[in-house]
Order: sequence, then structure tokens, then C-alpha cells
Amino acid sequence: MSVWKIIQEKVGAGKRLSFEEGVYLFQGADFHSLGQLADRARERKVGTRASYVFNRYLNYSNVCVLSCQFCAFARRKREPGTFELSVAEMVEEGRKAVGQGATEIHIVGGLHPSLPYSFYLDMLRALAELRPRPMLKVFTAIEIRHLAGRVAKKSIPEVLSDLKEAGLDSLTGGGAEIFDAGVRDRICRGKESGEEWLEVHRIWHGMGGRSTATMLYGHVETAEQRVDHLEKLRGLQDKTGGFTGFIPFAFEPSQTRLAELGKIRRASALEELRVIAASRLILDNFDHITAYWISTGLPLAQIALSYGADDLHGTIGEEKIFHMAGAQTPKGQTRGNLESAIREAGREPVQRNTFYEIV
Ligand code: SF4
Repeated sequence: MSVWKIIQEKVGAGKRLSFEEGVYLFQGADFHSLGQLADRARERKVGTRASYVFNRYLNYSNVCVLSCQFCAFARRKREPGTFELSVAEMVEEGRKAVGQGATEIHIVGGLHPSLPYSFYLDMLRALAELRPRPMLKVFTAIEIRHLAGRVAKKSIPEVLSDLKEAGLDSLTGGGAEIFDAGVRDRICRGKESGEEWLEVHRIWHGMGGRSTATMLYGHVETAEQRVDHLEKLRGLQDKTGGFTGFIPFAFEPSQTRLAELGKIRRASALEELRVIAASRLILDNFDHITAYWISTGLPLAQIALSYGADDLHGTIGEEKIFHMAGAQTPKGQTRGNLESAIREAGREPVQRNTFYEIV
């Protein structure tokens, strides 16, 4: 029997794909057949619905002690182009967003060398007092390790517990990149390892917390390294069930040092769809796969809804990280835009909250 036939039968019977079959999805599988199979797997999980969240992105600062080669967002402390928002400024932005109907405030920043621990706790406490209370999806696993090791000098469980008490609802999925150590050495030397990223999420899930997972692809990684990344996420999800969804996004090369060094061509539209479809089939224990329109653009995200994706992420308001790297997509969307995009793609739009529950 051909590899594709075996894959079709396994997916049809709800059986897990092997590592080699995962690699075949990236390297050998016919593009449209892959899309159709991923679409059937999506439909079994979520039916005709496709979701989005009314959220607002905020970044407290882009000052960072690291210099990941792929990142165009971060600046050193005294470099031009740095910004830092006070708690009061964050709350003001949050208040405006909640007033417009946002149910989620999504916050990440760089690894700031000198902001005190109290800043992060005060920021969460103050945002948690807004009414109606927005859900606070805040910090990557990398920021959590920075807070634990360099800022608070406490253990990871202690820091997560402090943040939870201050109002943290969900961790973000950022910082995962590709887990393979060799890839990390080339694109983000000095950053925490894949195991360390997974450990933070494992601890958070063990405390009853939820989070999302991501994959930054389209740089120096191989198909095998993508599948290894996805299998590690699937393995943790088997143990904890704490991931709410998966968000893959393509490396944005135009403003980053890595692009200058490696002359990397941005992932094509077909490759972006292939990653979404393969992720849907490999991540059999994830309910939700997001087409991140900030990265793909809204028209391709619409098509992705027929290639395994069931979620368009959010309205966002003002995205900085991809746009500082050169993304040409809009910085935000209205609810109306996302709903019509979903409807036009033949799905029933539903507004969800941070935990993918219908609002
Ligand atoms: S990706 Fe994150 S940790 Fe790396 S330089 Fe950018 S802000 Fe800092």
C-alpha cells in the first residue's frame, strides 16, 4: 500500500501518524489531497464553525537582553527605537479595548533587564480590575523563565503562582520557534531550549492553566525538525491536555538579521497552507488550528479554513512584532471583516474567548 493510502486510512480511523508519515506530509504528499484530508479532520473536530477572538495586542516594552537573529522587534536598552509603557499607559489602552468590546488582552514584551517584578504583577492586577474583566493572555514561556531566573529570583512554579494570583489567565505560545537545538543555535542563540519552553507549559498546565502553542517555520529548519517540534507538542498535550490551540507562522525575513545572513526566501502561500494542513493531521489531540492572518494575510487565511484551520485568531488592534519585521498585512481587523471572511469561506463565524469558548 502507498504511504498516502496508509495515511488516509489512519486519519479515517482516527489513528496517530508516525514520524515518517509526518515527514511525508511536508515532502511528498499531493498538495490538494493533503488539504482535503486535513479539512475532513477539521470537520470531525469542529463541524462547520470557524472562530475568532475580539482581542487587543499590547507590548509593554521591546527592550530585550537577547538578540535572536530572526527578531526585528527587540532593541537593546539605549538603542534608538526602544519603547516602554507604564502600568497606567497599559491600563489606558486596555480600558479603550474593553470599551470597544475586546474580551482578551494579549501581552508580550522583550526580556527587560531592569523592570522590577512588581511592574509585571501590578500590570496584571490593574488590567484584571477593568470591567467587564478581560481575559489576560500574557507572557511567553521565555519571559516566564526570565522573570523567574533574573527578575524575581524565584522558582518557575512560584512565579506562575504569583502571576496567576495577580490575574494571569493564559500563557501565550510565543518563544517556541523550532525546538531542535541545532536550529535554535542558528536562529536564536542563547535563548532557552525547547525542553525549557515545554517545561514552563507543563508546570502551568499542572496548575490548571491553559496556553497556546506555536511554531515559527520557513527559515533553516528541515521537514524532520518540523515534525519533531509537532510531536513534542503532541506528547505534552497527551500528558496535560492544557493547550487550547496551535498557531504556526512563517518567518518574516525582510527586516531581520537572519535574512541578511542566510538570504532566506519567505515561505510561499502553498507552503503556508501545507504547514497548516500537516499540523492538523499530526496534532490529532489539538482541537484548534489557527490561520494567523497577521502572517498569511486575510485572503490566504480564508483559504486555510479549507486546509485544516478552524480559527482566524483575533482582531488584534495593533500588531508590532511581525510588522517591525516587515509584514505588509493590516495591523488589525474589525469583527465585521473577520466574520465576513469566515462566512465567505463557507463557515459559520463564532466569536470565542481565550479558551475557545463561544462568547
Ligand atoms: S524573539 Fe523575544 S527573546 Fe528573542 S530578541 Fe526578540 S523579544 Fe528578545
